This record gives sequence, C-alpha cells and structure tokens, in this order.
Amino acid sequence: MCMLQVKVALIAIAVGWFVLPLDAYAASLDRSSRIEKNKNTPYLDRRLFEYTDHLRVNRENKVRVVVTNKCEFDGEAELLQLSRSSHVEEAYIFVPETCTWIEVGHRETSQNVYLDEIFIQAQLEQQSTVIFYHIQPGNRSDFNTYFPSYRDLVTLTLINADYIWKPYKKILHRIVTPIGIVEYEFANTTQIINLMDKFRNGGLRGFESQNLSYEILRSKYQDEYYKKIRDCQRRDGMIGDKVIWCYPIHTTAFSLKFRAISEPNNSGPPIALSNSTRAATVQLNN
Ligand SMILES: [Zn+2]
Repeated sequence: MCMLQVKVALIAIAVGWFVLPLDAYAASLDRSSRIEKNKNTPYLDRRLFEYTDHLRVNRENKVRVVVTNKCEFDGEAELLQLSRSSHVEEAYIFVPETCTWIEVGHRETSQNVYLDEIFIQAQLEQQSTVIFYHIQPGNRSDFNTYFPSYRDLVTLTLINADYIWKPYKKILHRIVTPIGIVEYEFANTTQIINLMDKFRNGGLRGFESQNLSYEILRSKYQDEYYKKIRDCQRRDGMIGDKVIWCYPIHTTAFSLKFRAISEPNNSGPPIALSNSTRAATVQLNN
C-alpha cells in the first residue's frame, strides 16, 4: 500500500451524503437539540451543527453532533454507555478548555469509522489541547474489543507527527471499551522527532508524517504489538474486566494504558470491578 493510500484510507474525508431532507431530520430531533450552521469554519465543513445535551452515535452525515458544557468524565461515562449499546463505531473530539464534544466520525460501521480530516485539521490549529475518542463496540467476549487496532495507532501517527515539533500542543487519543478507557501514545517522543528529522533532512520535507507512518507500518512494529496482545490472550481467563491485566502495554513505538471510568449516576448498577481492577486503573493504557 502506498503512503498516500494509507492516508486516504485512514482519514478519508466525507464523500457520501444522506438524502433525508433536513427539515424532516430537524422534526425528528429531541426538544433539547437545535440545528445551526457551523459559524467558525463553514467554508471547510459542510455538516450542520446539531447542538444537543448528550453524546450519541450519529450516522446522518449532513449533521455533526456538538455537545457543550459537558466536561471530560461526564462525556466519557456517556461514551462508555454507547460502547455497550451501539453496534457501530463513532468518533468525537473533546476540547477540554471549553468542555465541548464534537462528532468527527462518518461512515460508521461495526469495524470502522472515518474521520473528517479537514475539519479536524482546523480544530487542531485552533485548540491547544484536543482529545480524540472513538468507541469500540462489539462483542464483549471478543478480546479485540479491548485493544486499539494497529490502524488506530497509525492514525495517531498521522495526526500527531506534524505537531511533534510543537510540544505546547497536546493531542491525546483514547478508545472507549465497554469496561473503560484505553489511552495510547508514542512510546518515545525523542525517537519520533529523530525519525522525522531524518526524513526532513533527507529531502522529504512536507512528507515526514507519511514516511513516519510508512515506517510504523513495517511488520516488525506491528508484529511486536500483536504479539503482546496474543501473549496476554493466551493466559487463562483474560476476558471481560480481566483484560486490564494486559495493560500497560509498551512496544518500541507505542505505549498504552487502561483506566476504568465511573458510570453516569442514572445509568443503573456500577460495573463490577474487582479490587485488583481498581488498583490497576491508575496507570494502564492500550
Ligand atoms: Zn479502533
């Protein structure tokens, strides 16, 4: 796969539009929701903003769900619920400075969600801290539900590489599984900077991030990651909340840690986590 295809395949921009007329769509909304034009970046975002008070999975590509005044833990608790109930993936960015959640996923399927690349790029330029979330729904007995796919790690690489020389920008990546949050990041920023410098100095200025992701796609890195997961899977009983024992995971390129999150108050009984699970929530990530 060539580098450009990698980028296009990973972070394709929206191409398909649903045919549902917007007024019909608006009529189906909750009372708490309202539809407005995106005022800040209308020239690069064809999706209208649907302001609402709760995060949800939205497969209507004409509209982007936006939730304001909901800070990190409340939003995470809602995403946890979605990861348990949804049959498809969904992606949001969270801007901590304003406690705002913005849907950035489209073409949601059970295996995949595409990111709105151009819209995201504009947000990254404007904000000092952005946290990417995507829910990984799926069969709770399926081991893969609890780990980012390698493609998720490559997407992180593509997004973060261009900001590697700007340490004041904070761009974090998290998946939401039915039992908690996995945060993943470069294992060693200096290593990444060195690689990016090498590409730049080698005449590849402007193509550093593509070359970095090409490097990261080499089988030695992928095999190392999947071997760690497989080794953990082989241990008896590593399923459900026990998968947290697989964390933290460290490979040459990436570090991953896990943390359990509490449920919203009105959403039923808390997750049954063992004491060992609670103890382990301090520092884990996939
Ligand atoms: Zn994923």
